[in-house]
Amino acid sequence: MANLDKIKKRILSSLKWPAEYVRHDKPQLSITSDPLAKKHIIRVPTAGTPVKEMDFIHELTHAWLGEKVHPFFSILSFRPKPPEANLRAIVAPYLTARDWFAGALLIAWCPKEHSADIVREVGNVVKRLEGKGPLSGKDIYAMSLVAAQAINWRLKNIEARGDLKTIVDILLKFRPEQPTISKLTALTNQLAPLTTRCRVRLHPDSNVDTWEIYQA
Ligand SMILES: [Zn+2]
Repeated sequence: MANLDKIKKRILSSLKWPAEYVRHDKPQLSITSDPLAKKHIIRVPTAGTPVKEMDFIHELTHAWLGEKVHPFFSILSFRPKPPEANLRAIVAPYLTARDWFAGALLIAWCPKEHSADIVREVGNVVKRLEGKGPLSGKDIYAMSLVAAQAINWRLKNIEARGDLKTIVDILLKFRPEQPTISKLTALTNQLAPLTTRCRVRLHPDSNVDTWEIYQA
């Protein structure tokens, strides 16, 4: 734990933009990075169970990528404003793509802890696959991400089939340790067809880039 606290502090001090702490009513910690104001806003739950160090460090990967690679690794901006349904449709493929790149930082920053988390999650995926319940698109994205990470970092063998294999194969085509905005856009679009016809394209703006949602 002391080790993770040290890692957390080291990452925070490697950020150039200041971090502003605010309290919020949601149960999870969240960090968003504001590219215009050039600051990170860390929202800490007011009540409930204390935030786990690894969850905090996971959120810090998005802040770090948002500051050093592209703001979309932390927060999205759209133009024109998309209908709520399209926005919702693109969220799951986007979050999966974003976490694929974030995972490489977690492995680099906390190899022991993150590897153990992946191995444990693979166990949950296997149990879920053996169960009878239907799998939603969101489930398949989440399970494929874990499976692809386990395969990519050679932590555990897992045989993916069907939609799961399709998504795992797409993830494995992208090197997670080389994040760029064009790869984040391309990966989101390659993952999207599992659940939606919505796709995204980048509009470079004078101040800040935006994504436009269109139909494939
Ligand atoms: Zn994440």
